[in-house]
Amino acid sequence: LTLLGIESSCDDTAAAVVRGTDVLASVVYGQTALHADFGGVVPEIAARAHAEKLDRCVEQALQESGLTLAELDGIAVTAGPGLIGGVLSGVMCAKGISAATGLPLIGVNHLAGHALTPRLTDQVAYPFLMLLVSGGHCQFLIVESHDTYQRIGGTIDDAPGEAFDKTARILGLPQPGGPSVETAAQSGKPKRFTLPRPLLNQAGCDMSFSGLKTAILRARDGVVAEKGGLTAQDQSDLCAGFQAAVTDVLIEKTRRAMQIYLALNPARRSFAIAGGVAANGAIRDGLMQLCTELDTDFVAPPLALCTDNAAMIAYAGIEMMQAGHRDDLTLSARPRWPLDQRAAPMLGSGK
Ligand code: ATP
Ligand code: FE
Repeated sequence: LTLLGIESSCDDTAAAVVRGTDVLASVVYGQTALHADFGGVVPEIAARAHAEKLDRCVEQALQESGLTLAELDGIAVTAGPGLIGGVLSGVMCAKGISAATGLPLIGVNHLAGHALTPRLTDQVAYPFLMLLVSGGHCQFLIVESHDTYQRIGGTIDDAPGEAFDKTARILGLPQPGGPSVETAAQSGKPKRFTLPRPLLNQAGCDMSFSGLKTAILRARDGVVAEKGGLTAQDQSDLCAGFQAAVTDVLIEKTRRAMQIYLALNPARRSFAIAGGVAANGAIRDGLMQLCTELDTDFVAPPLALCTDNAAMIAYAGIEMMQAGHRDDLTLSARPRWPLDQRAAPMLGSGK
């Protein structure tokens, strides 16, 4: 099957054409510059930018794929969860194309797109364990099929990417915080500051990262009170301490998630990561080592497919379509959509 995918749930406008597991085209228009002055994504600005860019984005993806709409089998679109104005823009765009061409429409859960990416890039067999770790999400999922997910834990407050971004802001480093904190950490001493590992010794796979950010704020204020400011070495030491704390928590909780997953006795054990934080070298190395120790395949899709993109939406749509799933023009956009709820309800169903 060959599907067009459309994604607009956060701050990336994306369109892609995927045939089976071949990504024929994947176009992403980021909006980072539009939101830079506001310290976060502004929903109204995001929605307008999506509405403006979607047509061109779809056109470019089709052009790069070398295919026409007539050669497609369907259109997959992110129907939630996300910023509702953006999701609506994408859903309306997909409905328009579907109405004009008669192509089947498939509403995809954005998180399912991330969760199925290891099957697009590495043909990983079900069931596999996934850690989705980004600016907005942090959860462990046992992925059993395209529509069966067991969420076995996750953050109870901030996502790690958000914590990286806030840490950078506290220390006066540029956004996005992940890469700048990682770079600064390279010349830092992780043990200089004592930072908490929240929930580390609590049973289960739940995590918490907001206390860590407060601890960084206090440690910074301590240094500033003592010396009147932060040197580059202070920044590096704080970054190294922060990154070590996040890494320790993610590794320990992954070890526990792995125990739950391995109890299912999959014939081929696989652990995959997705989300922007998966770019972090220290976190990646730690997880890779854990997988070697537990004799489990480690799958880390290329970064362009780990962060928001439409190829993952097209691919999820392909699996859904193969399983007989179809939506129609009553498809609704949902701001919230937990992965364990199967399909988007129809308009007017009250939820
Ligand atoms: P979501 O996809 O969950 O809605 P998002 O769009 O913010 O959220 P992504 O685009 O997947 O998420 O990832 C962006 C996040 O990844 C940012 O918070 C960024 O700081 C973080 N990040 C990027 N590179 C690194 C890195 N090298 N180390 C740690 N974090 C990183
Ligand atoms: Fe995402």
